[in-house]
Amino acid sequence: MTNLEGRALSQTHSERIDSPDWRKSACILCECNCGIEVKIEGRRLAKIHGDKQHPTSAGYTCEKALRLDHYQNGRDRITSPLRRAEDGTYEEVDWDTAISEIAARLQAIKDEHGGERIFFYAGGGQGNHVPGAYGQSLRAALGSRYYSNALAQEKTGEMWVDGRLYGGHTKGDFEHSEVVLFLGKNPWQSHSFPRSRPVLKEIAADPQRAMIVVDPRRTETADLADFHLQVRPGTDAWCLAAMLGVLVQEDLIDRQFVAEHTKGTEEVLPLLSRVPVGEYAEQCGVPEDLIRAATRRFAAASSATTYEDLGIQQAPNSTLVSYLNKLLWILTGNFGRPGTMYLHSSLVSIAGSPTGSGTRPKPSRARHVATQAAAKLTTVAAQGVARAVPLAGRSPAPDDVLNALARTAVDRLAPLLSGSLSTAMGSKGNRVTPVTGARIIGGLMPCSSIADEILTDHPDRFRAMWIDSSNPAHSLPDSARMAEALRALDLVVVVDVAFTETARLADYVLPAATQFEKWEATFFNFEFPRNVFHLRAPLLDPLPGTLPESEIYSRVLRELGAVDPGVLDRLRIAAATGRDAFALAFFAAAAADPSLLGKAAYVLHETLGTTLPDGARTVAFLWGAAHMCALANPDAVARAGFDGPGLRPGERLFDAILTERSGVTFTVDTWDDAWNYVRGNDRRFTVAIPSLLDGLADLDEASSSWTTDEFPFVLAAGERRAFTANTIIRDPDWRRRDRNGALRISPADAQRLGLQTGGRIRIVTEVGSAESEVEITDTLQSGHITLPNGLGVDHPTDDDSPAQVGVALNTLTNSRHRDPIAGTPWHKYVPARLEPLP
Ligand code: SF4
Repeated sequence: MTNLEGRALSQTHSERIDSPDWRKSACILCECNCGIEVKIEGRRLAKIHGDKQHPTSAGYTCEKALRLDHYQNGRDRITSPLRRAEDGTYEEVDWDTAISEIAARLQAIKDEHGGERIFFYAGGGQGNHVPGAYGQSLRAALGSRYYSNALAQEKTGEMWVDGRLYGGHTKGDFEHSEVVLFLGKNPWQSHSFPRSRPVLKEIAADPQRAMIVVDPRRTETADLADFHLQVRPGTDAWCLAAMLGVLVQEDLIDRQFVAEHTKGTEEVLPLLSRVPVGEYAEQCGVPEDLIRAATRRFAAASSATTYEDLGIQQAPNSTLVSYLNKLLWILTGNFGRPGTMYLHSSLVSIAGSPTGSGTRPKPSRARHVATQAAAKLTTVAAQGVARAVPLAGRSPAPDDVLNALARTAVDRLAPLLSGSLSTAMGSKGNRVTPVTGARIIGGLMPCSSIADEILTDHPDRFRAMWIDSSNPAHSLPDSARMAEALRALDLVVVVDVAFTETARLADYVLPAATQFEKWEATFFNFEFPRNVFHLRAPLLDPLPGTLPESEIYSRVLRELGAVDPGVLDRLRIAAATGRDAFALAFFAAAAADPSLLGKAAYVLHETLGTTLPDGARTVAFLWGAAHMCALANPDAVARAGFDGPGLRPGERLFDAILTERSGVTFTVDTWDDAWNYVRGNDRRFTVAIPSLLDGLADLDEASSSWTTDEFPFVLAAGERRAFTANTIIRDPDWRRRDRNGALRISPADAQRLGLQTGGRIRIVTEVGSAESEVEITDTLQSGHITLPNGLGVDHPTDDDSPAQVGVALNTLTNSRHRDPIAGTPWHKYVPARLEPLP
């Protein structure tokens, strides 16, 4: 849909929005999570438009959102718990049976091998993040230490670099940037920032602004760019190093910014001054003049931003390229001003911290936060509110006793308040996996290592896997080996909406409500200066037989006896008394038993959750998130309208989250605040990362090609197209174009192989082969071929037999090709050959 069409649709639907049949929600197909309004007919999402009141998307959607009913009413939804029988078939069992058997088997594995041998893989893609909080509760109850999700095959290299440079996640103010550089990123199709297509068009139409694209493909974004650095696949490191060489050698860096805001440049700049720009330009296949011109334009801009994505994050030298990308904007001083890069607040962290500190407050700030919390809680106690709380079953206590209790509670709670929940659960530091010693980043184990941690006789191998809203048998590299690993486990439990490829390998499959049948949210809240969180109310009741994940987890935790029922009873009584009483009771209980904090989502579901309106029990844990956010960012939260004494700001923020259907601006920062999110007392960027400087120095001698005579093509496995999404869309009819997901190939290669558009081809790689339709396109270089993401899943046909449309990419990818630091797989650089079919 064009923007004009979108505007027309918005105008026509505004007359109908008062109808009770139109309800607000969000698209769940990319991290933008654009606000939508949905017309419900029966159980169908009959019509969908952009929500003009949404604080970030403001009525915008792309074409993908308009056909979400194909997700909601997919044919392969499951409506009963399933248990695998001896013969490999599945039988329906009732919920009580499934929960009690699963809890017993988890407990048995914990007793025999230890809870850390139970591995969790969960994440819920782009919009299903609430279950993650309950997953943490179950992990804490079982003593499970290892966890991963799809971010660990995409973003962990960047997270590792972020952690070392400044300790948090960065994004760019693209909408106001004079120059924007996209690196392995095609926002026309993969979006990632609000209103991406209108923003791209605005930049392209403005002669005072410029767009630079580094991409081996001539993407839709590259077509709009002023500079397209069309690198040979896999050579981004040489291109970025050449740009940095130009910056330093032509003295284009911002020396004042570098002097005031960085440390370690004495190790970095000499190396960049020696980069042989001409040789590296030749190595990456981009004319040297073009690299120099693009770099000069970037350096001359009054404001510039960069965005890297999977095109480089799933390719050779990915972590090094992330580092070089960030040096570009740091050395040119593009941080902390409108139109530049920023670090931001967060409501809930989607992963642990990159290096153990992450986006959490720096130590001095953490102490400040803890002190504030102590003062506020003591005030609450002093007000006598807590006299109504019959803690420990006793009669109301005198004020001095309650004050002492509050101080004790906060003393014990302070270390937990000042760190992330994952820190509290022991994921801090430079951890590695138990069998292969792979680096764990942000608490996430590399996806490429998971099968290796199972298919071994090592005593510390994983014995069980809990998989929620994820499809690792389909989405992780070398899916045949991943399937073998799943079969080797003692227990596999899958929680999902559909009978997925992974569900077909599970011992138990638990049917979840869809994202439109429960309270749900995404924690991809990365905006600045106004950061937004959108809690989505259910559009429909759960399909009979299904349950929201929160209820599934809570039933298992109850069966395990995860929390003393007496504690839960007392907290329930406090919750019935009021929020202040509950706050003191909860924090005091957590101070007395810090392990409760690890199970906070479950505890809040069972206590505070019973008092929440409209069945919002599922999201009771957001009460804790709102308070943490208000304590960590008091000024920014107050600017957003949530102020007052004591715990009022957190309470008011929580109430707004529960009631605002189009989303809530939870922080309003000033640009100076961007520096407050930089780790370290001196708030300087630590630009020298020794291992990556070694990698930069090694580029002189390193190979820039990994193809062979046997596999001469570079397959980019997972191209984002107009109608691709992640695999929650299983129905091929969702795609209005390119239904079968053709293999794209250059005209020169097609001619050499005698191929025509619409013909068929076999793709062969080191680990597998697949057949595909062919599409010839001049957007690709010779030697480069692409397949789209999200296809190749089984979907029932009219006669209920499963049919697969498109290529299941990970039948072709090899988990051995991975980044040496982050372990991220080379999905965008798969050596392959093509065999024409008759
Ligand atoms: S796919 Fe992304 S950009 Fe498109 S409507 Fe959905 S959330 Fe918005």
